[in-house]
Amino acid sequence: MSIQPLQIDNIAFAKRGEHLTGDLSLAHCPRLAELLASQLPILQNDAIGTHALTSVNKTENSIHFTLDGEANAVGQHFLHLALASNLTTYCQRCLEPMPVKLSLSFHYQIIDVNAKHSELDVVEDSDDFDMQEANQAMDLVALIEDEIIMATPIAPTHAHDCAVASMQSGEKPNPFAVLKGLIKP
Ligand SMILES: [Zn+2]
Repeated sequence: MSIQPLQIDNIAFAKRGEHLTGDLSLAHCPRLAELLASQLPILQNDAIGTHALTSVNKTENSIHFTLDGEANAVGQHFLHLALASNLTTYCQRCLEPMPVKLSLSFHYQIIDVNAKHSELDVVEDSDDFDMQEANQAMDLVALIEDEIIMATPIAPTHAHDCAVASMQSGEKPNPFAVLKGLIKP
């Protein structure tokens, strides 16, 4: 898949009830790629930056998206975005690779500030909706990338207690190892 900006006229998309689905890779999302690269363990003699980015781009990372447009009887416009991403990051405690699977859904109401008053009405239960400004060239890839970045943990760690294992595999003797033997369950 070539790296093309994916721009939609969001009001028209909603009006026509259009449906769009596709897959993105990290090549489409340089800011997300940088975030994941920043979580790579820093190895000795590793040129930080380019090497990390290359490593991140080589791992299996995919983002699947589905976008649906909707317009209701009173002329309000909506976008429904579903994302399923499969990314690889690194546990900040044991530094082992760690998959991060996100399954997200977002609901946006499109607000056209130039439209007649009725279109400015925000849906009553607006907690469930984020706002998007009417845009004839809304950058869908940037929106998806933003949502994934916000959902990606900044300092991810394994759910299980992986710190003990990594300490024991270290080359330095663990000064607490002797204490561990004293603690009986
Ligand atoms: Zn870990």
